[in-house]
Amino acid sequence: IADIAMYAQKGKQPERVLFYNHQLEENLRSKVLLQEALNNALARHELRLVFQPIVDSRTREIRSFEALLRWKRGTQIIDPSVFIPIAERSGQIVNIGYWVLEEACKTLAHLPAEETAISVNVSVIQFQDQQFLAKVNRLLETYHINPARLHIEVTESLFHSGQSDLTDKILWLQRQGIKISIDDFGTGYSSLSVIQNLNIDFVKIDRSFIHKIEDKGLAIVEAVMNMSHSLNFRIIAEGVESEEQAQLLRRCGIHYMQGFLFSQPVEMVDVFRLSGSRLLHPAPESV
Ligand code: C2E
Ligand code: MG
Ligand code: MG
Ligand code: MG
Repeated sequence: IADIAMYAQKGKQPERVLFYNHQLEENLRSKVLLQEALNNALARHELRLVFQPIVDSRTREIRSFEALLRWKRGTQIIDPSVFIPIAERSGQIVNIGYWVLEEACKTLAHLPAEETAISVNVSVIQFQDQQFLAKVNRLLETYHINPARLHIEVTESLFHSGQSDLTDKILWLQRQGIKISIDDFGTGYSSLSVIQNLNIDFVKIDRSFIHKIEDKGLAIVEAVMNMSHSLNFRIIAEGVESEEQAQLLRRCGIHYMQGFLFSQPVEMVDVFRLSGSRLLHPAPESV
C-alpha cells in the first residue's frame, strides 16, 4: 500500500496504480482466507506428511527420510511454499510444527529399521518458542525414540534471527543425541562463521547448486566439501535429478543424496516398505 501511495504521489500512470492495488487486495484477501482455513486444517485432518528418502551416495541405501508437509483442502492442493510463509507470519507454524514433530516421532516408533532416521523441518519461529526443547524432549520420551534418529533441519536464517540462546539450544538438542542439519545451504546470508562455531552434523546443499553442477555449481560443492573435512560435518545434496549429477556428486565425495532421481516424497506406508532398502543400483566405482 505504501508503495502505491508513493507511486501515486509521483503522479505516474494512475490506471496502472489501480491495477496493482486490485492485485494487492486480491493477494491479501486470499492470504487471509488461507490463514483462516489453516486454523481448521489440523482438526479436519487436511494436513499430512510425505517422506522423501535420503540415500548414501556410495551404496544408495536409504539412510533417512525428510518429512514434508502436504495440505489438501477438498480438491485444492496448496503448496508448502504458499502456506508455510503464511503460517510463519501468523504464528500458526508453531502448532503445526509440533504436529509434524509428533507425526515424525510416531512414524519413527513404528519403523523396523533401527538405523533409519527422520528429518524434520523446523521453522525459526518454532525454534524461538519457549516450550520447544521441553516439547521435543517429551515427544522423544513418549514414543521411546532414540534421539539420534531425529534430525532437525534449520535454515541459515535461524542464525540471523538474533536469538541470544540459540547456541545453547542447539547444543542442548545435540547433547540429547539429536542431529542438526542446515537446510538450503548457500541460499541465505553466509553462515560460514556460524558453522565454524557450532558443531553442525549435516549441511544440505541447496538444489539450485546441484542443478547447475555441470557449470558453476561444482565450485560451490567442492568448497563445501573442503569445509566439511575441517569442520567435520556430512553433506547432503538436495534435488538430485539425473544420473550425471549423482555421479559427479559421488566423485566429489558427497556423502548423501536426495532427489527425484531416487524418489519423490512417498506416503507413510511406503516408508515402512522402503525403509532399509536400496534405491537404484549404485554406479560402478570406476566411473
Ligand atoms: P526443503 O526443506 O528444502 O524441502 C525440499 C523440497 O524440494 C521439497 O519441496 C521437495 O519435494 C523438493 N524436491 C525434492 N527433490 C527434488 C528434486 O529432485 N527436484 C526438485 N525440483 N525438487 C525436489 P516441498 O515439499 O514443496 O517443500 C518446500 C519447502 O517447504 C521445504 O523445502 C521446506 O522449506 C518447507 N516445508 C515443507 N514441509 C515443512 C514442515 O513440515 N515444516 C516447515 N517449517 N517447513 C516445511
Ligand atoms: Mg528441508
Ligand atoms: Mg532444503
Ligand atoms: Mg531447498
